[in-house]
Amino acid sequence: MLSVRDAQTTIFNLVQPLQHPQDTEVVDLSSVNRILATPITSQLDFPHWDNSAMDGYAVRYADVEQASQEQPTILEIVEEIPAGCQPKLTIQSGQAARIFTGAVMPKGADTVVMQEETRRENNHIAILSAPKPQGFVRYQASYYQAGNQLLPTGIRLNAPEIAVLAAAQCPQISVYRKPKVAILSTGDELITPTQPLQPGQIVDSNQYALAALVRQMGAEPLSMGIIPDDKEALQRAIAHSITHADIVLSSGGVSVGEYDYVEQIITSLNGKIHIRAVAMKPGKPLTFATFDHSQRPVLYFGLPGNPVSALVTFWRFVQPAIAKFSGLVDGWEPQFINAIATQELRGAGKRETYLWGRLNLVDGVYEFQLAGGSHSSGNLINLAQTNALAVIPVGEKLITAGNSVKVLKIGN
Ligand code: AMP
Ligand code: MG
Repeated sequence: MLSVRDAQTTIFNLVQPLQHPQDTEVVDLSSVNRILATPITSQLDFPHWDNSAMDGYAVRYADVEQASQEQPTILEIVEEIPAGCQPKLTIQSGQAARIFTGAVMPKGADTVVMQEETRRENNHIAILSAPKPQGFVRYQASYYQAGNQLLPTGIRLNAPEIAVLAAAQCPQISVYRKPKVAILSTGDELITPTQPLQPGQIVDSNQYALAALVRQMGAEPLSMGIIPDDKEALQRAIAHSITHADIVLSSGGVSVGEYDYVEQIITSLNGKIHIRAVAMKPGKPLTFATFDHSQRPVLYFGLPGNPVSALVTFWRFVQPAIAKFSGLVDGWEPQFINAIATQELRGAGKRETYLWGRLNLVDGVYEFQLAGGSHSSGNLINLAQTNALAVIPVGEKLITAGNSVKVLKIGN
């Protein structure tokens, strides 16, 4: 049985990310959570021109460097420059321009005196204190110089990046296409949320949870529905999935039960099985395989059927694999946080143990609070409202309250 670390190395090494230009599409600025596929360079400077950071008066610093409350400097106001206007005059010694935030600096002026440091006297202005040289001027190209790289490839486009693209007048952007993730649930006992529940049946919750996670990651879930424990039906569904998706997630049918066919089918479809089990709890019966494909291997994750096991293995392995596949250059690897356990946490000893709960920031310190109720991998009820998994290493049986524990964040 592979360790979690070896399993992650095996999986992540086999992920071949989407490529430019064949895996790209053009989207507009209403798209969020997409991955930039080409670097962006702007021909605009930021700021585009010297402009005022304040409502006040544009002056020549040399005129006002001696100004004080007792001996104000009096300047003649020769122009008023609202935002969006081009100044007409050059400020000469002894002159000032009334200027507003964002308005273009007039020639001749190099400093803005904020309104609060002045007293207006008809068409003159008294400067009541010496400003800093070049104070309150946002100089052209001081934030970014035209021709340099503005945004690198392989970053996720969220609100700040979208604002930058809008400001740089890049309304159409090349991003990687969304990875297609097929989701199939296996089991004769499974029904949909709207079918009447008969004795022995259980609702296929994994389909919905996995689709939600895939969507949250900016990938596209392809629902393959419920597949009965019938070898031919399952083979057809898997064969269809590997030709229509980049990544296939099945849940159930990967333990050693009599009706667990997944492994036989992968082999008969020429898939290569890399992982059959991982030393973790929950999540031991994880299968990972690849299918050769013209562009890059299709990744197959046979997740355990138990709802918690399916989600824990998704968070631990599938989520980073999808993030890497989607073209994200940095930040796709799982990130752990050190937290203080608020109560004792028990590990399984031989397997790396994942316990679900909440990560809270209390007075600047992360605390992990274990979810109440049963930590059985079949209990999905107490998974609701959790946002983190505490990781108890192999060989460690107990982390006592007040001690440090490694935590994987799984939500907000
Ligand atoms: P299996 O891995 O097929 O042996 O399933 C393990 C457990 O998970 C069984 O109790 C199944 O009923 C349950 N299970 C399997 N698939 C799902 C699913 N899609 N949604 C919810 N529970 C499931
Ligand atoms: Mg089953």
